[in-house]
Amino acid sequence: MPEPTLCCRVPGAYCDRCDLLVGLPGLRVIGVERDGRDCLVVTVESAAEPMGCRSCGVIARGHGRVDVHLVDAPAFGRPVRIVWRKRRWLCPDPGCEVASFVEQDERVASARAVMTRRACWWVIEQIRREHASVNGIRRHLGTGWRTVWESIKPLLQAAADDESRFEGVTILGVDEHVWHHASTKAIEDGGRGPKELTGMVDLTRDPNGHIKARLLDLVPGRSGATYRQWLDQRGEAFRSSVQIATLDPFHGYKNAIDDQLQDARSVLDAFHVVKLATQVARTSAGGCSRTPPVTAAARTTRCTESATSCAPGRTGSPTGSSPGSTPRSPPGTNTSKSNSPGSVPNRSAPLTTSTPTPPAVPSPRRSLTPSPPARSRRSLVSGEH
Ligand SMILES: [Zn+2]
Ligand SMILES: [Zn+2]
Repeated sequence: MPEPTLCCRVPGAYCDRCDLLVGLPGLRVIGVERDGRDCLVVTVESAAEPMGCRSCGVIARGHGRVDVHLVDAPAFGRPVRIVWRKRRWLCPDPGCEVASFVEQDERVASARAVMTRRACWWVIEQIRREHASVNGIRRHLGTGWRTVWESIKPLLQAAADDESRFEGVTILGVDEHVWHHASTKAIEDGGRGPKELTGMVDLTRDPNGHIKARLLDLVPGRSGATYRQWLDQRGEAFRSSVQIATLDPFHGYKNAIDDQLQDARSVLDAFHVVKLATQVARTSAGGCSRTPPVTAAARTTRCTESATSCAPGRTGSPTGSSPGSTPRSPPGTNTSKSNSPGSVPNRSAPLTTSTPTPPAVPSPRRSLTPSPPARSRRSLVSGEH
C-alpha cells in the first residue's frame, strides 16, 4: 500500500506539521485558503481544554466563538491573515464580577490588536536591520501605513522607556544626525519637526573585545547644550561608568563632556580622524573639492566619493559637467581651490594638537540620508521579543 501523500491524514484532527509551519504558540491550524486579494488566510483555534474563570477561577462554560482577524507576517511571498476563532466563556458563579470573557494570549496578539505580535516584531526588524520603510512594509503586509505604525508604536515606546539599555556603558559615542531636509514646522502642524538630532551610541567592547555599536538614544537638537542635558538626565551612576567618550570634532559636544564626564577620556572618533586626514591629503594633492558651489576651476580635477586622493580629470572625456553647470575653464586657469564665496564653513575644529588641521577647503558637514519619521527611533528597540 502506498504511503499517504496528504499532509493532514486524519480528517477533523489537528495536524502537527501544519501547526509547525504556521507556528503560532498555543494555536492549532484548522484551515488555510487564499482570498480574492491573494492573501493566505489561516484559521486557527486553541485546543479544547478546561478553562478557569480569570477572576474567580471556577471552571468556565463554553459560550461559542468570536472570530478575530489579524495581520500576520508575510509567508511564501504573500500577505497573511490569521483568523483566530477565539473561545468565549461564561463564569457559572452568579456572584462573580466576570460574567463572560474571551480567551487571550499575549504571545499571539494583545487584546484588540490588529497585527500579531510576531508581525509587529517582524516589522521592527525589517525597519531596524533592512532599512525598510513603513510604507514598504505595509505593502508586504497588504495593509495600511497607520495600521503598521500604530501597531509597532507601543513596542517602540516601551523599548524607548526601558532605561536598562544605559547600563554597563563604558565607551560612549556621540554624533549629530540630519534626518530630514524639509520644513522644521512642528509635527502637530503637519511638519517634520527639528531637522537635526544628536545620537548617542554605546561602543563598549564585549568580553571578546569586539565593539557592537548600539544606538542608545536620539534626541532633537545638535548642540553642546543638548548633549549636556542628556548626560545630566542619565544620572551619576551612568556618567561615572563612562571611561571613554568619543565625539566628532565639535566643541559643543567636547564642552558637554568636559562638563558632565570629568573622569572620562575624550577621543576623536575614527570616522572623523579619517575624514579630516583625507581632506588634508586631498588639499595637498591638488586642491580639489566637492564643496558646492563647484567652480569651473575646481571641476578640472575631480574626486570620487570613495577616493582617498585626487584623480586628475580625464581630458579626453566630455566635460562631465552636469546640466546647468558652468563650462570647463580655459587652459591655464589656476586649478587650486580656495575658499569659495558662499561655501558653508565647517564648524568642526580639531580638539587636540594631534588632530589634522582642517584644510583650507571648506566642506559641508556630513550630510546623512534623511529618514522617514517611522525610522527615527527604530534602533532603540532591544533585540528581545
Ligand atoms: Zn497538515
Ligand atoms: Zn468567575
